[in-house]
Amino acid sequence: MGTIDGLPPLREVIRAHDLQAKRQLGQNFLLDLNLTSKIARMAGDLSGADVLEVGPGPGGLTRGLLAEGARRVLAVEKDARCLPALAEIAEAHPGRLQVIHGDALEVDALAHLTPPIKVVANLPYNVGTELLIRWLTPEVWPPYWQSLTLMFQKEVAERIVAKPRGDHYGRLALLAQWRCDAKIVMILPPEAFTPAPKVHSAVVHLTRLDGPRYPADAKVLNRITTMAFNQRRKMLRSSLKGLGPEVEAMLESVGIPPTARAEEISLELFCALARRVAEA
Ligand code: SAM
Repeated sequence: MGTIDGLPPLREVIRAHDLQAKRQLGQNFLLDLNLTSKIARMAGDLSGADVLEVGPGPGGLTRGLLAEGARRVLAVEKDARCLPALAEIAEAHPGRLQVIHGDALEVDALAHLTPPIKVVANLPYNVGTELLIRWLTPEVWPPYWQSLTLMFQKEVAERIVAKPRGDHYGRLALLAQWRCDAKIVMILPPEAFTPAPKVHSAVVHLTRLDGPRYPADAKVLNRITTMAFNQRRKMLRSSLKGLGPEVEAMLESVGIPPTARAEEISLELFCALARRVAEA
C-alpha cells in the first residue's frame, strides 16, 4: 500500500538509516502516517503558515505537516543520525522543508521563519515543559506564534488545561490559560509509539489571545503564583506572607479568604491579587 507522500514507510526508513530509539533523547516515534496527518490537522489550516517542528526524528510528523499543506516547515533536530532521513523528505518537497541540526533550547528559530507561524511538535519529554514555558513567556505579547499544537505525556497535558480544585491545577495551568485558549484535542495510548512509553500521551492545542484574559503584570503574577503553589497545601495568608504585613487585608480586598489555599483560587482572582499587590 502506498504512503501519503510516496516516500517509503517509516519502518523502512528507520531500518535503512539504523535509527534505534535513544531514551536519553526522549525518542518515542510515531510511525503511522495517517495518525501524524491527523495531528497536523489539529493545528488548523497550515497552507498559509510556516511551521516550527521540534524533534522531527525520522520525520513522521514532518511528513504529516507537509502532506497537510504547510507552506514551509522548519524542523530542529538534535540527533544527527536523523538528518539523512530528513534530507530525503526535503528533496521530495523542494523549498518546503528546512532542517536545522541543533538543540531547540539554543536555536533561534524565529530568524528562519516568516509569519504567520504555528508550532507543531511531538516533544521530547525531557525538554517539553521548558520549551512550553519559554513559548508562553516571551518578552512581548502577542508572541511570534499563532498556535502551539504539542504532544506531551498525558499528565503534563492535564496540568496545562487544569481548572481550580483539581489535582493538576497549578502554575502551568495559570501560565497557559492567562494568555491562551488551551484544550486537549487527542489522547494517544502507549502503543501508538515505537518504542511504547509507559504512559498515555495527549496533544494540547493552545491558541494565543491578543492580550491577557485578565489584566496583570506578568512579573507580579509569576511571583505570587510561585509563592502560592510552592506551598500549595498551606493557607494563602501563610504561603504569601512574604508579600508583607498587609497580606491578609490585600487578600480580603480582592475577595480571597486568607484561609483559602492556592489550588482553590481562579486565574481571575490571582490576576486581581496581582493588580492589588502592584498598586501597593
Ligand atoms: N517527531 C517524531 C515523531 O513524532 O515520531 C519524533 C518525536 S520524539 C518524541 C522527540 C524527538 O526530539 C527525537 O527525534 C529527539 O531526537 C529530538 N530531541 C530531543 N531533544 C531535543 C532537543 N533539545 N532539541 C531538538 N530535538 C530534540
